[in-house]
Amino acid sequence: MKTKKDIWVFGDYRNYFQNRVTLQILARAVDLASTTGGNVCAVVFGFGVEAYAAEYIAHGAQKVYVMDDPVLESYSIETYSWLMAWLITKYQPETLLVGATRFGQEIAPRVAKKLKTGLTADCIDLEIDEKGLLVQIAPSFGGNLIAKIVTPVQRPQMATVRAGTFQELVHDDTAKGEILLLPLPKDLPKDKIRLVLSEHRPSKKQKIEDADIVICGGRGMGSRGKFKKLFDLAELMNAEVGATRPVVYSEWVSHNALVGQAGKNIKPKILMSFGISGAIQHTAAITEADFIIAINKNPNATMMKMADVAIVADANQVCLGIIKAIKEKIRD
Ligand SMILES: Cc1cc2nc3c(=O)[nH]c(=O)nc-3n(C[C@H](O)[C@H](O)[C@H](O)COP(=O)(O)OP(=O)(O)OC[C@H]3O[C@@H](n4cnc5c(N)ncnc54)[C@H](O)[C@@H]3O)c2cc1C
Repeated sequence: MKTKKDIWVFGDYRNYFQNRVTLQILARAVDLASTTGGNVCAVVFGFGVEAYAAEYIAHGAQKVYVMDDPVLESYSIETYSWLMAWLITKYQPETLLVGATRFGQEIAPRVAKKLKTGLTADCIDLEIDEKGLLVQIAPSFGGNLIAKIVTPVQRPQMATVRAGTFQELVHDDTAKGEILLLPLPKDLPKDKIRLVLSEHRPSKKQKIEDADIVICGGRGMGSRGKFKKLFDLAELMNAEVGATRPVVYSEWVSHNALVGQAGKNIKPKILMSFGISGAIQHTAAITEADFIIAINKNPNATMMKMADVAIVADANQVCLGIIKAIKEKIRD
């Protein structure tokens, strides 16, 4: 049964409450399908997962392929990637999109290898070109280039996409879609891994993409030791710390914190920007911040011009000053 033009989105529901990347990708798939035709479909493996199928329909999926079986209760990369490759071979969708979560980063390359097709990791945008091919847009060469990659021959076209790249559609309870409950194939290989114990430990740490307050630091912080103070401030304010590329490259902070074209998009209610010049590659990812406070020695820095409040001062001094003030307030 060929569903040649369909766009499939892998249902990465395990992180549902932390990470709504599947819903975000579905929204983009709806856009893409308006050009290419075909259905937007989600694929879900697990046990007791039908509620997710309804959620995906409410967010744009027209069809959801569900394999719901006790055998799939515990995630197994071997079984899940085998099943995904099996389903794709059977239904032949044009495209498979996967969230660039840890789970997605594990399954997508395995599926691509099984199907001998290409995969672009960590896309920051997806488009359709004049030939109807999926243009997979991703940073490459350490973020120095933005590559536009197509898969002209092999199918499906495959890409992973970071959380926060696209905006999910508004939940629509009235949306209609088809749920296809599929039995496990008879020739599903027995898993070579035996699960002994599984423990669910949700991360207490919020994600920078979802944080209400983000404290971003740039090269103007001066050193790794001084940059660390931003973490103290973030803890007091229940905020997350972001950084610019020079900071990440200097290894003052991990790549996870990178905000910008080569990193994460953020949409906080309050963004505090310490010692950041405001290069387009950084500011492109903060356009949805509600209120920006910038601290910079240079009043003419682009970041200062973008800010709602611009403080011309030494970034370290301001950071230490706020920490002191909050601690005093807590003591009172
Ligand atoms: C393809 C490509 C992709 C890129 N992707 C990204 C990306 O994803 N994210 C990203 O951030 N960048 C990215 N960049 C790099 C980007 O172009 C800038 O170089 C970078 O954002 C600058 O970082 P910065 O503001 O920390 O440093 P600088 O531009 O060096 O700015 C430092 C600022 O600190 C101020 N300052 C200095 N000392 C103090 C002080 N004591 N107190 C207060 N202020 C002070 C200065 O006035 C200056 O405005 C990318 C570049 C390319 C080419």
